[in-house]
Amino acid sequence: MENALEQYDPQIYELVRQEIARESASIRLIPSENYVSRAVMMASGSCLTNKYAEGYPNKRYYEGQQVTDLIERLAQDRAKQLFKADHANVQPYSGSVANLAAYTALIEPGDTIMGLSLPHGGHLTHGWKVSITSKLFKSVQYTVNPDTGRLDYNRIEEAAKKHRPKIIISGATAYPREIDFEIFGRIAKDVGAYHVSDIAHIAGLVVAGIHKSPVPYADIVSTTTHKTLRGPRGGMLLCKAEHAEKVDRAVFPGLQGGPHMHTLTAIAVAMAEADTPEFIAYAKQIVKNAKALAEKLLEYGFDLVSGGTDNHLILIDLRNKNIPGKKLAKALDRARIVSNYNTTPADPLHPANPSGLRIGTPAITTRGMKEPEVKLIARFINRVAENIDNESVIEEIGKEALLLCSHFPVPDHFIIPNKKNSL
Ligand SMILES: *Cc1c(COP(=O)(O)O)cnc(C)c1O
Repeated sequence: MENALEQYDPQIYELVRQEIARESASIRLIPSENYVSRAVMMASGSCLTNKYAEGYPNKRYYEGQQVTDLIERLAQDRAKQLFKADHANVQPYSGSVANLAAYTALIEPGDTIMGLSLPHGGHLTHGWKVSITSKLFKSVQYTVNPDTGRLDYNRIEEAAKKHRPKIIISGATAYPREIDFEIFGRIAKDVGAYHVSDIAHIAGLVVAGIHKSPVPYADIVSTTTHKTLRGPRGGMLLCKAEHAEKVDRAVFPGLQGGPHMHTLTAIAVAMAEADTPEFIAYAKQIVKNAKALAEKLLEYGFDLVSGGTDNHLILIDLRNKNIPGKKLAKALDRARIVSNYNTTPADPLHPANPSGLRIGTPAITTRGMKEPEVKLIARFINRVAENIDNESVIEEIGKEALLLCSHFPVPDHFIIPNKKNSL
């Protein structure tokens, strides 16, 4: 298979190889990224990409579903067992489509949704103004308390009572603290709203029992499969039995055509991997690593939104360091440390050049890094910040980062890079 790509399309082969080398030779701190296993890669790169399977098991619109039905049932059963949910739909192409399907399953266009504002940590699809979710629905947004960086459930309740949304969305994309899904469920019930919970970032922590699951408190739980959950790029919906039919119809034929069977196959594999003691240990280490990283950054005088973290991610407010987020992110990238610039709550700067930097520990934890390595990474970050305009120091840090990477090889890349360009 490796040879086929190399022989048929040397240009793409070379680029894939370069990406493997880049992923191996840099410290991946983007909290939504990870490294999947070779088993997940193989399932994802399998012949299942050839098969059309519009519909659901036993209700397909094409023949030849002897195998696909079995695979999708397995994926559904594993997801249901893992998340302790009545029903699972494993077909959404990604988290964004899963969210749109969740909303359209429950409410009508023009109805009101209420989610966390994007600059305060919410996702685009939670009703942010540039997203179709704010055009299709009337969107009202809640925020974190800018003084504490934390969700203020009393204020969320007040907003819910005032705006009477049909759906309240819990969950976030840049929020470093545990979310109380039970309170969200109660607020939603009190105002007669549905509760949709989006655990795209923290699904791995939820299945490991580190964060409380929203499944008992939400009408629909939406997630991606590729973040802390460490599966292929995809989406998934979990719900109570009463919503099962509506959810399935919202995904297909409501929003999608044929499911990506190769992805669905790889999701099944990832669910099996997540149902192991090894996965629980990995998830626990993610949080330990994030806490160690936060502690060290605080020692270096970094200002962290909410003062720390309960999960896999950290949001640094760089205003006291007088470095824009984008400038630090780009300098870190030159030092082989890959992060993303991000808004901070009530950020005075524009989202295209915000005050914050978002980092996280899932990918480095998959590589086997623990507290000592994390502390070293905090030192690298601090040195880059202190030498932000000194390219030779940044290059030096890059060499040290490369050395660290060489001790923690990326597990299971599918195409083995040429020796000459690997680490
Ligand atoms: C990543 C994310 C999504 C969207 O996932 P895509 O697969 O990129 O479409 C949705 N919600 C939250 C909270 C996310 O973090």
